[in-house]
Amino acid sequence: MKNIIFIAPPAAGKGTISDYLVKNYQYEHISTGDLLREEIASGSEFGQKLDVILKSGSLVDDETVIRLVNHKITSLSHQAFILDGFPRTLGQAKVLDEMFRELNIHNNVVIYLSVDLDTVLKRVTARVICPKCKRSYNLNNEKLKPIHKDTCDDCGYALIRRDDDNEETFKVRYESFIKNTKPILDFYQDKGMLKEIDATLPLEVIYDRIENEAKND
Ligand code: AMP
Repeated sequence: MKNIIFIAPPAAGKGTISDYLVKNYQYEHISTGDLLREEIASGSEFGQKLDVILKSGSLVDDETVIRLVNHKITSLSHQAFILDGFPRTLGQAKVLDEMFRELNIHNNVVIYLSVDLDTVLKRVTARVICPKCKRSYNLNNEKLKPIHKDTCDDCGYALIRRDDDNEETFKVRYESFIKNTKPILDFYQDKGMLKEIDATLPLEVIYDRIENEAKND
């Protein structure tokens, strides 16, 4: 399978789709949001600074996230990976391009999950996540609900709501997507790497389309 780079507004379904791909195709899931939340959970001084940024809905500086991603990608074994939440700025996309060139990584597809504001707003306020295995659930969706209301189906941990999954912070994150992240689409379109999938389709259809796009040629 190809490496997958997801570009999408917050709560478009990147995490849910990544969970599916990890379970079925043994992808390595690299989520910059998860990596940053791990640093915050460690209680470090740097984590406390990150916490303020994530709670506000703004972006962390490019240098920090590039360092995290570079560390992850260079320490990977041979399996394909998913980039979830990176790149989020044109600057990050250009550095990633350079990283791929240096590491001789060419088997990539960029998938844009398109979705309207109303849909993601509804999803974000119904999202809960497992702080241990990072699986995400949607309390309003029969297929994505946990079996027991408050615990993770996979590891039994108590589910939590993310600090930034509220309407006010969500708007900041969505605006940041429009301003900083959407311009990346042209960058990948020009390289012929971009595929668009409608993220409001039923999950089975989305999985099927992604499997088709990510299959090796
Ligand atoms: P996510 O889990 O992808 O929704 O990311 C949560 C938060 O982490 C974002 O709202 C940003 O504050 C920060 N973040 C995640 N990825 C990046 C990135 N590539 N660049 C800058 N900030 C990021």
